Amino acid sequence: MHRHLSRDTQLERLIFPKPGFPDDWYWCNLDRVIAYMDAHHISHVGAMNVMSTRSMLDSRMRRAREAGRSERDIAEARVFLREDMRQRVREMNDWSLAAQAREPRIRTFIALDPTLFEDASVDELERCIALGATGVKIHPASSQHLPDHPALLPVYERCQEAGVAVLACSTPRPNPDGVAYAEPLGWRPVLRAFPRLRLALAHFCDDAWDERLEMAREFPNLWFDISGGLVDAQNPATWRASMLATQAVRVFRKVGVERLMWGSDTVYDPMPSVRQILGLPFTEDEQEQLLSRNAMTFFGLR
Ligand SMILES: [Zn+2]
Repeated sequence: MHRHLSRDTQLERLIFPKPGFPDDWYWCNLDRVIAYMDAHHISHVGAMNVMSTRSMLDSRMRRAREAGRSERDIAEARVFLREDMRQRVREMNDWSLAAQAREPRIRTFIALDPTLFEDASVDELERCIALGATGVKIHPASSQHLPDHPALLPVYERCQEAGVAVLACSTPRPNPDGVAYAEPLGWRPVLRAFPRLRLALAHFCDDAWDERLEMAREFPNLWFDISGGLVDAQNPATWRASMLATQAVRVFRKVGVERLMWGSDTVYDPMPSVRQILGLPFTEDEQEQLLSRNAMTFFGLR
């Protein structure tokens, strides 16, 4: 669960640079991912499409201003660039859905930014459902919107009806404007309005895990991934991992182990976090749920 797949090695190098790595070591791209999965006994990958169109747009506007362009030129360029960005997102959704069609072990979650697509968000969803989308990836922090953005309400409605899953980043770091768009509690209005939506909040074990536990109690249709991992002697705390591994069995059982999915996000080597799960005193059945069965259910594959 929760990888970010690149179209090829060169793009992976550009978007997720790992200084000093030769090309051969980049594996999370269409050229190499299946070989990597075979070598590590991974049956499926939940591939999340994200594109930071907001920061791409902002930096182009800033460069235009620095170059002394008039405000009118900049306003005109913004209209053009927004359509250019929408087209780039559509193309990303296209190549990744084509990859899923060729290789069903790749399960594609499309990118959808309501601040970019606005009322046409549901049209992009519809187009991608026709191409077989497994899910939708929502990124409130990088797109700078609240989870109940008006353009997303028809998207959730359609996802609920079509059985299309939704994964959202939910680490509540404040944006430069001071708003923590991804705050887990911000999903309350969405979960209340769409009680059958198959929604997962990412990064269960970051320092908002107490809020997610509260949300789990309130909303039986809420799922989580644990990308970011747990803290132990080999794995220090990060902004994605605050929960001690020794707390995981107790806390995961409070949530309901059947609602948690192991995930890796962008880490180069996801295997240490697999070994964490295997090393904890879960039952064998719980380990299988965390590492495989729950994600298969979430993807709609069982
Ligand atoms: Zn991610």
